[in-house]
Amino acid sequence: MTQTADPLPAPRGRVVRPSAAAYKEAAAIIRAGGLVAFPTETVYGLGADATNDAAVAAIFEAKDRPRFNPLIVHVRDAAAAAREVIFDARAEALAKAFWPGPLSLVLRRAAECRISLLCSAGLETIAIRVPDHPVGQALLRAAGRPIAAPSANPAGALSPTRAEHVAEALGERVDLILDGGPCPVGIESTVLDISGETPALLRPGGVTVEALAKVIGTIAAAEAGTPQASPGMMASHYAPRLPLRLNADSVRADEALLAFGPNPLAGAAVTENLSRRGDTKEAAAKLFAALRRLDRPDLTGIAAMPIREDGLGAAINDRLRRAAAPRESQTGETNSLLGRIEAVVGAKGLVAEPAEMAPYLSEPRGLYTGRARILVRPATTTEVAEVVRLCAESGTPVVPQGGNTGLVGGATPFEDGRAVLLNLGRMNKIRAVDAANNTITVEAGCILRQVQEAAAAVDRLFPLSLGAEGSCQIGGNISTNAGGIQVLRYGNMRELVLGLEVVLPDGRVWDGLRALRKDNTGYDLKQLFIGSEGTLGIITAAVLRLFPMPRERATAFAAVRDLEAAVALLGRIRAAAGDVVTSFELFPRFGIDLALAHVPGTQDPLAGRHDWYVLAELAGSGRGGALADVLESALTDAFEDGLVPDATVAASQAQADAFWRLREGMVEGQKSAGGSIKHDIAVPVSAVPAFLARAMAAVTELIPGIRPVPFGHLGDGNIHFNLSQPVGADKAAYLARWDEVNRVVHDIVAEFSGSISAEHGIGRLKVEENQHYKSALEIELMQTVKKALDPRGLMNPGKVVPR
Ligand SMILES: Cc1cc2nc3c(=O)[nH]c(=O)nc-3n(C[C@H](O)[C@H](O)[C@H](O)COP(=O)(O)OP(=O)(O)OC[C@H]3O[C@@H](n4cnc5c(N)ncnc54)[C@H](O)[C@@H]3O)c2cc1C
Repeated sequence: MTQTADPLPAPRGRVVRPSAAAYKEAAAIIRAGGLVAFPTETVYGLGADATNDAAVAAIFEAKDRPRFNPLIVHVRDAAAAAREVIFDARAEALAKAFWPGPLSLVLRRAAECRISLLCSAGLETIAIRVPDHPVGQALLRAAGRPIAAPSANPAGALSPTRAEHVAEALGERVDLILDGGPCPVGIESTVLDISGETPALLRPGGVTVEALAKVIGTIAAAEAGTPQASPGMMASHYAPRLPLRLNADSVRADEALLAFGPNPLAGAAVTENLSRRGDTKEAAAKLFAALRRLDRPDLTGIAAMPIREDGLGAAINDRLRRAAAPRESQTGETNSLLGRIEAVVGAKGLVAEPAEMAPYLSEPRGLYTGRARILVRPATTTEVAEVVRLCAESGTPVVPQGGNTGLVGGATPFEDGRAVLLNLGRMNKIRAVDAANNTITVEAGCILRQVQEAAAAVDRLFPLSLGAEGSCQIGGNISTNAGGIQVLRYGNMRELVLGLEVVLPDGRVWDGLRALRKDNTGYDLKQLFIGSEGTLGIITAAVLRLFPMPRERATAFAAVRDLEAAVALLGRIRAAAGDVVTSFELFPRFGIDLALAHVPGTQDPLAGRHDWYVLAELAGSGRGGALADVLESALTDAFEDGLVPDATVAASQAQADAFWRLREGMVEGQKSAGGSIKHDIAVPVSAVPAFLARAMAAVTELIPGIRPVPFGHLGDGNIHFNLSQPVGADKAAYLARWDEVNRVVHDIVAEFSGSISAEHGIGRLKVEENQHYKSALEIELMQTVKKALDPRGLMNPGKVVPR
């Protein structure tokens, strides 16, 4: 017996030339709820049956629309339009003059209207037109129903005017592409709202205002941001009459319930379940009709259960937030940018009070105090994206902010007050911990310590550790490529990030949340955002690497003969211990004296006085004191060879902590030594002794009596080259020489091919200095990257790269 195989389903995304067979196939796809891209005289449209909720929802899904914008419905002629909308004398006159053609009319729904409420984003009006393209016309005739068709491209991308544009942009997201050649008009239709008394121009397009005015007289220009102009952006848009309560976990007997998923809450007066299966596409299709049915005058409110954010969930939630937005706004504005932002983030996500905003507007050392139009504190990636998109639309700069612990003014807005300050603090969920993969997925607003603790809870180490860890946030750490005290072993943040989720300057979301250690699929885009200090996009979440929790530590405090001996000792310990050396910190004697004199609880671990000291720490998985043995034996050899005059290995954790307290105390103690001019530099580890000799001599020549306190991460070649004022000098006069001293020190750094900012970044403080030392080509390349991602220069402008 011969078996015949089932015919293979036709591949999606096929491009076909118009023919009777092609129209037949396309019409069948439309009637079955599929998507067909087709040319009109303006641009290519992404068409679906306008009377089928699920089919219209599929358009939003294919376009990745962040929210439901009204869609233009295409019909074959004016008579077909009159079935769906109230077609008054003005509409008739306009239709006679311009249809078929590039004019869309916004009209009120007719009583018998079959068009999906999704097409009009729940509004009472519909935008409708008759296209003048033979292919569009033929498809409408073959399908025998109205076709909803926005431009056939992903949201935010350029409109397609050729079939290949559609194929490139949407590919298999569309069932079939009818190739009717290039579109003759190429820009979208004119949209004219004649649902009210005075006709209003919502979008200029293929038909001129003058031509329209000749037919119906005066036409008002819709103000930017008015509800008619952008129905999807109203602060309180299609708000049902009843108050809407989001994320409900209980419901009262006098409330209606908008349910989602298999377990609707019990006890509501009436329930509409958007999708028992928890399918966001099905939910989107039912949303507006369900809200209408629930909006009953005999009830007190509508409780909406939480809806997943993925797929069309983001758009549904956006829509529900608008519907729930307060009618009385905190900003007192509904149609302006601030009002629209408020509608997105709600009252909790907004700070407009000057006193409440003040702490967020100053850099911690008081170097800068800026102003902002408003402080926004979004709670989800969707909210961040929507706020950024609104800002982009209105040309408003955005300054991202984490814990505001950065010391170079990166998170502080400028004094002109034009920017929106966007603080990530409310996005503080640990999304996932995968102990087997040694990864953790966290939102950007998680405090660093919170991430360390979440890792420790599954017996893993997240190794980034630094002085500000109780208040800085992961997003800020990533954006500044933070290092800290264990870089030697685990690397900077750059080495600790596997994936990122980023809101781009135009509001699109790049989902690069991959948890892979191998991924050679082209440019490593995440690296662009790491260390870019919020100038290329807003990091909203990250996948971070975890490590085995060390079982054993060994910590030593050693005096060294000189700086060369310190570098040699590092080499010896690494040779003996391998890569378990986590820290190798340098101290000058003067720093120790400052700590001992000014910080309670510090004590000198060694008896004699020496010029230089190091703190070395090893951490590993073994047990039983093996690391301490290795460390001790390396130190003994170094002692015998004259590198180390004295040293002690901590006998307990308390003793190790005391060594570290001395390290932190040195920073604290400097505050008591008057003014301090600071540098955060890096040179190759092998060059540290020569650099320090040169730099200390140069600053002493410039300011006799100056007291250098160079300390820090010798193991990484990163020295905090801090310079305390001469004893008895005038602090203000000393600090006034900051730039002069910087120039001398940074020139020497440059001679060693070093970096003028090893840890803290460029922010606002070092933009000019960076420009001075980087080559013109390097600055040009940085500006090219900035322009490619942020062509309008709205993302943290004026930071890192010159404007
Ligand atoms: C006491 C102390 C000790 C420190 N020790 C060290 C150390 O040992 N090693 C080291 O490397 N650093 C150190 N730092 C600097 C530290 O790394 C940074 O302060 C910290 O990483 C910044 O995090 P934050 O959340 O406070 O960011 P913020 O200060 O709020 O912002 C810093 C920059 O990142 C941008 N930004 C913030 N969040 C985001 C986001 N989600 N998306 C895009 N851009 C964003 C901001 O616009 C700004 O440009 C120390 C700082 C202090 C105060």
